[in-house]
Amino acid sequence: MRPEPVEGSTADLHKLSPHQRESGFEDLHYSFVPCASLPGQLGRSGVITTPHGKIRTPAFVAVGTKASVKAVLPESMVALGAQALLANAYHLYLQPGADVIEAAGGLGPFMNWPGPTFTDSGGFQVMSLGVGFKKMLAMNTDGLEDDDVIADGKTRLAQIDEDGVTFRSHLDGSQHRFTPEISMQIQHQLGADIIFAFDECTTLMNTRHYQERSVARTQQWAARCLAEHQRLTREGTPSHFQALFAVVQGAQYEDLRRQATRDLESLVIDGCGFDGYGIGGALEKENLGTIVRWVCEELPEDKTRHLLGISEPDDIFTAIENGVDTFDCVSPSRVARNAAVYTSRGRFNVNTATSRRNFAPIDEDCDCYTCTHYTQAYLHHLFKAREMLAPMLCTIHNERFVVRLVDNIRTVIDAGTFSDFKIDFLGRYYGSSARSPRSGEADPDRAGTEPRPCR
Ligand SMILES: [Zn+2]
Repeated sequence: MRPEPVEGSTADLHKLSPHQRESGFEDLHYSFVPCASLPGQLGRSGVITTPHGKIRTPAFVAVGTKASVKAVLPESMVALGAQALLANAYHLYLQPGADVIEAAGGLGPFMNWPGPTFTDSGGFQVMSLGVGFKKMLAMNTDGLEDDDVIADGKTRLAQIDEDGVTFRSHLDGSQHRFTPEISMQIQHQLGADIIFAFDECTTLMNTRHYQERSVARTQQWAARCLAEHQRLTREGTPSHFQALFAVVQGAQYEDLRRQATRDLESLVIDGCGFDGYGIGGALEKENLGTIVRWVCEELPEDKTRHLLGISEPDDIFTAIENGVDTFDCVSPSRVARNAAVYTSRGRFNVNTATSRRNFAPIDEDCDCYTCTHYTQAYLHHLFKAREMLAPMLCTIHNERFVVRLVDNIRTVIDAGTFSDFKIDFLGRYYGSSARSPRSGEADPDRAGTEPRPCR
């Protein structure tokens, strides 16, 4: 069931870091090798090697927040070409508990997913559930001089201090505490191939002064995560090597983003640094490419760059051409549950009247299981009848659509025809009468409560 190995470049895919050699994971390693690059831009293709298989980049990482891509069998995710899945440490810590997943042999065996896995640190969820990201925050910040931006009548559910975060579960109100060390211990129990350092995710409404303090705190937490990760790798009994990615914050400020990137990149303990870097923060759609570029310009070419959360097809092009290798995206499954489907000519809702007697597939150009077996009329009926098969079939289509889009982008990067492909794809996708993309839509998978346009 393991996804087919992919052909990489002729470069050495088996080069081990000192950390990997010392850890005794010679056969179960992590590496990233860049291949082709976009002329004059930061975008590139490459190959990540993990203990559970290779990931050809750029790659879409499907989101299975609670160890499940909602409504889709893991076998279906393999069949539609998904290369890797990302789950969330916060959600799995609360339910079923990291110890349960550890006892099951780790995230992959627990959910019957044979390929590479990622876990997000839970930092965003801990803080967004506590600080609020709209529901809890005061929305009118005119004249704001401090960072007490909690809305009237709301109670802060998370308290951040220099050592970590104390928060209450969104499930039952029970109190918990995450520190960088605890996040690493949880992510080691979960056992994903790629894990993320515990960071503080601020909002665009925080003051510049707060952003500066927060970036400094995330840097300190990153150092503690790296030290604890190395201790756990050295002293524990892991079944395979786990790669640790730092997370770059700094909101919309160029100097903070660049300095944060340089500081994290230069962070080395016992001769070992981070295996890759995540780009986090609440990014506005119009600033996405610029912020990604600032970060990627500061990073060495041989380190993987992951964008934490992305939304629509045009954002995918923007992120990739500015240097992103992998990104996770909850939109394909989220919108599918509301009957929204992607097609080569834009996005539409299959539960509207126009599909009621349409006996064509969602997209004539799509090769997915849904489009090769079912009509819009049938899907329309399933949604109207509230049948569980409706979101299942639409999620399969949407996940395949994004997988195939990114596969095609990788192909045209290698072939040197990226610009032509981008113009053609976006022209057809947004040039039709289908709805335009929206950013900041509700994202229940992410925080359980609130939007997350980009982490
Ligand atoms: Zn399809």
